[in-house]
Amino acid sequence: MRYYVLDRGDELSIKLAEQFHKLAAERNLELDAKSPEIVISIGGDGTMLHAFHTFIDQIPNLAFVGVHTGHLGFYADWKADELPALADYMCGAGSAEPHKPRIVKYPLLELEIHKKSGSSSHIALNEFTLKGVDGTVVIQVDINDVTFEMFRGDGLCVSTPSGSTAYNKSLGGAMVHPTIEALQIAEIASINNRVFRTMGSPLLLPKHHHCDIFSRKDQRLLLTIDHNNIPVDDLISVRCQVSDKKISFARYRPFPFWNRVREAFLI
Ligand code: NAP
Ligand code: MN
Repeated sequence: MRYYVLDRGDELSIKLAEQFHKLAAERNLELDAKSPEIVISIGGDGTMLHAFHTFIDQIPNLAFVGVHTGHLGFYADWKADELPALADYMCGAGSAEPHKPRIVKYPLLELEIHKKSGSSSHIALNEFTLKGVDGTVVIQVDINDVTFEMFRGDGLCVSTPSGSTAYNKSLGGAMVHPTIEALQIAEIASINNRVFRTMGSPLLLPKHHHCDIFSRKDQRLLLTIDHNNIPVDDLISVRCQVSDKKISFARYRPFPFWNRVREAFLI
Protein backbone atom coordinates (compact mmCIF):
# COMPACT_ATOMS: atom_id res chain seq x y z
CA MET A 1 0.00 0.00 0.00
CA ARG A 2 1.55 3.30 -1.15
CA TYR A 3 0.65 6.40 0.83
CA TYR A 4 1.50 10.08 1.12
CA VAL A 5 0.83 12.58 3.91
CA LEU A 6 0.20 16.29 3.50
CA ASP A 7 -0.07 18.45 6.64
CA ARG A 8 -1.24 22.01 7.32
CA GLY A 9 2.19 23.08 8.55
CA ASP A 10 1.22 23.91 12.14
CA GLU A 11 3.02 22.25 15.04
CA LEU A 12 0.34 19.67 15.84
CA SER A 13 -0.25 18.66 12.22
CA ILE A 14 3.49 18.25 11.59
CA LYS A 15 3.82 16.13 14.75
CA LEU A 16 0.93 13.92 13.69
CA ALA A 17 2.38 13.50 10.20
CA GLU A 18 5.66 12.32 11.77
CA GLN A 19 3.70 9.96 14.04
CA PHE A 20 1.89 8.53 11.03
CA HIS A 21 5.16 7.91 9.15
CA LYS A 22 6.40 5.89 12.16
CA LEU A 23 3.17 3.90 12.36
CA ALA A 24 3.34 3.30 8.61
CA ALA A 25 6.97 2.11 8.69
CA GLU A 26 6.10 -0.43 11.42
CA ARG A 27 3.36 -1.76 9.16
CA ASN A 28 5.29 -1.85 5.88
CA LEU A 29 3.25 0.89 4.26
CA GLU A 30 5.29 2.52 1.54
CA LEU A 31 5.78 6.29 1.42
CA ASP A 32 5.33 7.40 -2.19
CA ALA A 33 5.11 11.07 -3.16
CA LYS A 34 4.67 10.37 -6.89
CA SER A 35 1.91 7.80 -7.19
CA PRO A 36 0.31 7.12 -3.81
CA GLU A 37 -2.86 5.04 -3.52
CA ILE A 38 -3.98 6.89 -0.39
CA VAL A 39 -3.29 10.54 0.38
CA ILE A 40 -3.76 11.53 4.01
CA SER A 41 -4.45 15.20 4.68
CA ILE A 42 -3.76 16.32 8.26
CA GLY A 43 -5.16 19.72 9.23
CA GLY A 44 -8.53 21.05 8.15
CA ASP A 45 -10.77 21.20 5.12
CA GLY A 46 -8.39 23.79 3.67
CA THR A 47 -5.60 21.19 3.87
CA MET A 48 -7.75 18.76 1.88
CA LEU A 49 -8.29 21.43 -0.79
CA HIS A 50 -4.52 21.79 -0.92
CA ALA A 51 -4.01 18.01 -1.15
CA PHE A 52 -6.62 17.76 -3.90
CA HIS A 53 -4.89 20.40 -6.03
CA THR A 54 -1.45 18.92 -5.36
CA PHE A 55 -2.60 15.59 -6.84
CA ILE A 56 -5.01 17.05 -9.41
CA ASP A 57 -3.40 15.07 -12.26
CA GLN A 58 -3.86 11.75 -10.46
CA ILE A 59 -7.40 12.16 -9.13
CA PRO A 60 -8.79 9.00 -10.83
CA ASN A 61 -5.99 6.84 -9.35
CA LEU A 62 -6.05 7.68 -5.65
CA ALA A 63 -8.26 8.13 -2.62
CA PHE A 64 -8.09 10.71 0.16
CA VAL A 65 -8.39 10.43 3.93
CA GLY A 66 -8.74 13.58 6.06
CA VAL A 67 -7.55 13.92 9.66
CA HIS A 68 -8.57 17.08 11.52
CA THR A 69 -6.38 18.83 14.04
CA GLY A 70 -8.93 21.56 14.80
CA HIS A 71 -12.70 21.33 14.64
CA LEU A 72 -14.47 18.55 12.74
CA GLY A 73 -14.16 19.09 9.00
CA PHE A 74 -16.26 18.00 6.08
CA TYR A 75 -13.31 16.43 4.34
CA ALA A 76 -11.27 15.88 7.52
CA ASP A 77 -13.31 13.45 9.59
CA TRP A 78 -10.67 11.42 11.46
CA LYS A 79 -9.54 12.57 14.89
CA ALA A 80 -5.88 13.05 15.81
CA ASP A 81 -5.92 10.17 18.33
CA GLU A 82 -7.21 7.73 15.71
CA LEU A 83 -4.00 7.59 13.63
CA PRO A 84 -2.94 4.13 14.94
CA ALA A 85 -6.39 2.76 14.07
CA LEU A 86 -6.15 4.32 10.60
CA ALA A 87 -2.69 2.80 10.03
CA ASP A 88 -4.03 -0.59 11.19
CA TYR A 89 -6.94 -0.35 8.77
CA MET A 90 -4.62 0.60 5.93
CA CYS A 91 -2.28 -2.37 6.42
CA GLY A 92 -5.04 -4.77 7.37
CA ALA A 93 -3.71 -5.56 10.85
CA GLY A 94 -4.99 -8.94 12.02
CA SER A 95 -5.87 -10.11 8.51
CA ALA A 96 -3.87 -11.33 5.54
CA GLU A 97 -4.93 -8.53 3.20
CA PRO A 98 -5.07 -4.75 3.60
CA HIS A 99 -8.49 -3.74 4.94
CA LYS A 100 -10.44 -2.62 1.85
CA PRO A 101 -12.03 0.77 2.52
CA ARG A 102 -15.33 1.75 0.99
CA ILE A 103 -14.53 4.23 -1.75
CA VAL A 104 -16.96 7.14 -1.72
CA LYS A 105 -16.93 9.37 -4.80
CA TYR A 106 -17.97 13.03 -4.80
CA PRO A 107 -18.73 15.19 -7.86
CA LEU A 108 -16.35 17.93 -8.99
CA LEU A 109 -16.81 21.16 -10.93
CA GLU A 110 -15.16 21.60 -14.32
CA LEU A 111 -14.25 25.10 -15.48
CA GLU A 112 -13.09 26.51 -18.78
CA ILE A 113 -11.82 30.04 -18.43
CA HIS A 114 -11.64 32.03 -21.67
CA LYS A 115 -9.61 35.24 -21.62
CA LYS A 116 -8.53 37.48 -24.48
CA SER A 117 -5.01 36.30 -23.63
CA GLY A 118 -5.84 32.57 -23.70
CA SER A 119 -7.92 29.74 -22.29
CA SER A 120 -7.41 27.26 -19.46
CA SER A 121 -9.24 24.34 -17.83
CA HIS A 122 -9.58 23.78 -14.09
CA ILE A 123 -11.32 21.56 -11.58
CA ALA A 124 -12.77 22.70 -8.25
CA LEU A 125 -13.52 20.58 -5.21
CA ASN A 126 -15.48 23.29 -3.32
CA GLU A 127 -16.36 26.09 -5.67
CA PHE A 128 -15.57 28.70 -8.26
CA THR A 129 -16.35 32.33 -7.51
CA LEU A 130 -16.22 35.44 -9.66
CA LYS A 131 -16.03 38.80 -7.86
CA GLY A 132 -15.39 42.41 -8.78
CA VAL A 133 -12.19 44.15 -7.80
CA ASP A 134 -13.28 47.76 -8.39
CA GLY A 135 -16.97 47.48 -7.56
CA THR A 136 -20.09 46.01 -9.08
CA VAL A 137 -19.59 43.30 -11.68
CA VAL A 138 -21.69 43.11 -14.81
CA ILE A 139 -22.03 39.57 -16.10
CA GLN A 140 -24.42 37.66 -18.29
CA VAL A 141 -25.43 34.17 -17.26
CA ASP A 142 -26.42 31.68 -19.97
CA ILE A 143 -27.77 28.25 -19.13
CA ASN A 144 -27.43 25.62 -21.84
CA ASP A 145 -26.66 28.33 -24.40
CA VAL A 146 -29.79 30.36 -23.64
CA THR A 147 -29.40 33.75 -21.94
CA PHE A 148 -30.82 33.47 -18.45
CA GLU A 149 -30.08 36.79 -16.75
CA MET A 150 -27.87 39.86 -16.65
CA PHE A 151 -26.32 40.06 -13.20
CA ARG A 152 -25.12 43.17 -11.38
CA GLY A 153 -23.74 42.84 -7.89
CA ASP A 154 -20.73 41.55 -6.00
CA GLY A 155 -20.42 38.25 -7.85
CA LEU A 156 -21.42 34.62 -8.25
CA CYS A 157 -20.47 31.37 -6.54
CA VAL A 158 -20.70 28.04 -8.37
CA SER A 159 -20.25 25.16 -5.96
CA THR A 160 -20.04 21.38 -5.89
CA PRO A 161 -22.25 19.33 -3.55
CA SER A 162 -19.39 18.84 -1.06
CA GLY A 163 -18.56 22.54 -1.37
CA SER A 164 -22.18 23.44 -0.64
CA THR A 165 -21.42 23.51 3.09
CA ALA A 166 -18.64 26.08 2.61
CA TYR A 167 -18.90 29.51 0.90
CA ASN A 168 -22.20 28.53 -0.72
CA LYS A 169 -23.78 28.09 2.70
CA SER A 170 -22.82 31.63 3.71
CA LEU A 171 -24.66 32.85 0.62
CA GLY A 172 -27.91 31.11 1.55
CA GLY A 173 -27.38 28.22 -0.85
CA ALA A 174 -28.78 24.76 -0.14
CA MET A 175 -26.68 21.96 1.29
CA VAL A 176 -26.59 19.26 -1.36
CA HIS A 177 -25.90 15.60 -0.67
CA PRO A 178 -22.80 14.55 -2.66
CA THR A 179 -24.61 11.60 -4.28
CA ILE A 180 -26.48 14.27 -6.28
CA GLU A 181 -24.39 15.07 -9.34
CA ALA A 182 -25.06 18.77 -9.65
CA LEU A 183 -23.59 22.24 -9.46
CA GLN A 184 -25.16 25.12 -7.58
CA ILE A 185 -25.14 28.77 -8.62
CA ALA A 186 -25.55 31.21 -5.72
CA GLU A 187 -25.55 34.99 -5.97
CA ILE A 188 -23.23 37.25 -4.00
CA ALA A 189 -25.25 40.39 -3.22
CA SER A 190 -27.13 40.97 -6.46
CA ILE A 191 -28.61 44.40 -7.16
CA ASN A 192 -32.35 44.07 -7.64
CA ASN A 193 -34.58 47.03 -8.43
CA ARG A 194 -36.79 48.21 -11.28
CA VAL A 195 -33.81 48.39 -13.63
CA PHE A 196 -31.67 45.39 -12.66
CA ARG A 197 -33.28 41.99 -12.18
CA THR A 198 -31.81 38.59 -11.24
CA MET A 199 -33.46 35.37 -10.17
CA GLY A 200 -32.36 35.77 -6.54
CA SER A 201 -32.71 32.06 -5.68
CA PRO A 202 -29.82 29.61 -5.83
CA LEU A 203 -30.04 27.32 -8.87
CA LEU A 204 -29.13 23.63 -9.08
CA LEU A 205 -27.99 22.37 -12.47
CA PRO A 206 -27.78 18.63 -13.14
CA LYS A 207 -24.98 16.80 -14.90
CA HIS A 208 -24.76 17.49 -18.66
CA HIS A 209 -26.15 21.01 -18.25
CA HIS A 210 -23.73 23.90 -18.42
CA CYS A 211 -23.69 27.56 -17.60
CA ASP A 212 -21.58 30.26 -19.21
CA ILE A 213 -20.73 33.45 -17.36
CA PHE A 214 -19.81 36.30 -19.74
CA SER A 215 -18.04 39.46 -18.65
CA ARG A 216 -20.19 42.32 -19.96
CA LYS A 217 -18.03 45.30 -19.09
CA ASP A 218 -14.37 46.23 -19.10
CA GLN A 219 -13.67 45.13 -15.54
CA ARG A 220 -11.02 43.73 -13.26
CA LEU A 221 -12.23 40.49 -11.72
CA LEU A 222 -11.06 38.12 -9.06
CA LEU A 223 -11.71 34.48 -9.88
CA THR A 224 -11.32 31.95 -7.10
CA ILE A 225 -11.02 28.20 -7.44
CA ASP A 226 -11.21 26.70 -3.95
CA HIS A 227 -8.40 28.41 -1.97
CA ASN A 228 -6.67 29.82 -5.08
CA ASN A 229 -7.17 33.40 -6.29
CA ILE A 230 -6.73 34.37 -9.95
CA PRO A 231 -6.91 38.11 -10.84
CA VAL A 232 -8.13 38.58 -14.42
CA ASP A 233 -8.60 41.81 -16.34
CA ASP A 234 -9.46 40.41 -19.79
CA LEU A 235 -12.13 37.80 -19.09
CA ILE A 236 -14.41 36.76 -21.93
CA SER A 237 -16.33 33.92 -20.26
CA VAL A 238 -16.24 30.97 -17.90
CA ARG A 239 -18.03 27.71 -18.65
CA CYS A 240 -19.09 25.66 -15.62
CA GLN A 241 -20.33 22.07 -15.65
CA VAL A 242 -20.27 18.95 -13.53
CA SER A 243 -16.98 17.20 -14.27
CA ASP A 244 -16.71 13.65 -15.61
CA LYS A 245 -14.06 13.12 -12.93
CA LYS A 246 -14.85 12.49 -9.28
CA ILE A 247 -12.79 12.67 -6.12
CA SER A 248 -12.51 9.41 -4.13
CA PHE A 249 -12.45 9.23 -0.36
CA ALA A 250 -11.37 6.07 1.44
CA ARG A 251 -13.90 5.40 4.18
CA TYR A 252 -12.61 2.88 6.67
CA ARG A 253 -15.77 3.41 8.72
CA PRO A 254 -19.04 5.16 7.88
CA PHE A 255 -19.64 8.81 8.73
CA PRO A 256 -22.72 9.88 6.76
CA PHE A 257 -22.83 13.38 5.24
CA TRP A 258 -25.88 14.49 7.25
CA ASN A 259 -24.20 13.40 10.49
CA ARG A 260 -21.20 15.53 9.52
CA VAL A 261 -23.51 18.47 8.76
CA ARG A 262 -25.20 18.07 12.13
CA GLU A 263 -21.97 17.70 14.08
CA ALA A 264 -20.30 20.62 12.29
CA PHE A 265 -23.13 23.11 12.55
CA LEU A 266 -25.57 22.06 15.25
CA ILE A 267 -23.99 20.14 18.13
P1 NAP B 1 -10.46 29.45 5.21
O1 NAP B 1 -10.69 30.91 5.25
O2 NAP B 1 -9.73 28.77 6.29
O3 NAP B 1 -11.87 28.69 5.00
C1 NAP B 1 -13.04 29.17 5.52
C2 NAP B 1 -13.75 28.09 6.29
O4 NAP B 1 -14.37 27.19 5.37
C3 NAP B 1 -12.84 27.26 7.18
O5 NAP B 1 -13.51 27.09 8.41
C4 NAP B 1 -12.75 25.95 6.41
O6 NAP B 1 -12.47 24.85 7.25
C5 NAP B 1 -14.13 25.86 5.85
N1 NAP B 1 -14.37 24.93 4.76
C6 NAP B 1 -13.59 24.66 3.68
N2 NAP B 1 -14.20 23.76 2.89
C7 NAP B 1 -15.36 23.44 3.49
C8 NAP B 1 -16.42 22.58 3.14
N3 NAP B 1 -16.41 21.86 2.01
N4 NAP B 1 -17.50 22.51 3.97
C9 NAP B 1 -17.55 23.24 5.10
N5 NAP B 1 -16.58 24.09 5.47
C10 NAP B 1 -15.50 24.19 4.67
O7 NAP B 1 -9.78 29.12 3.79
P2 NAP B 1 -9.37 27.69 3.26
O8 NAP B 1 -9.18 26.75 4.39
O9 NAP B 1 -8.28 27.91 2.28
O10 NAP B 1 -10.67 27.24 2.47
C11 NAP B 1 -11.05 27.84 1.28
C12 NAP B 1 -12.55 27.83 1.30
O11 NAP B 1 -13.01 28.86 2.15
C13 NAP B 1 -13.17 28.17 -0.04
O12 NAP B 1 -13.24 27.02 -0.87
C14 NAP B 1 -14.54 28.66 0.40
O13 NAP B 1 -15.50 27.61 0.42
C15 NAP B 1 -14.35 29.12 1.82
N6 NAP B 1 -14.67 30.53 1.94
C16 NAP B 1 -15.79 30.86 2.61
C17 NAP B 1 -16.21 32.19 2.68
C18 NAP B 1 -17.45 32.52 3.41
O14 NAP B 1 -18.07 31.60 3.95
N7 NAP B 1 -17.85 33.78 3.45
C19 NAP B 1 -15.46 33.19 2.06
C20 NAP B 1 -14.30 32.80 1.37
C21 NAP B 1 -13.92 31.46 1.31
P3 NAP B 1 -10.99 24.59 7.87
O15 NAP B 1 -10.82 25.58 8.95
O16 NAP B 1 -11.10 23.19 8.36
O17 NAP B 1 -9.98 24.76 6.77
MN1 MN C 1 -8.68 26.81 6.42
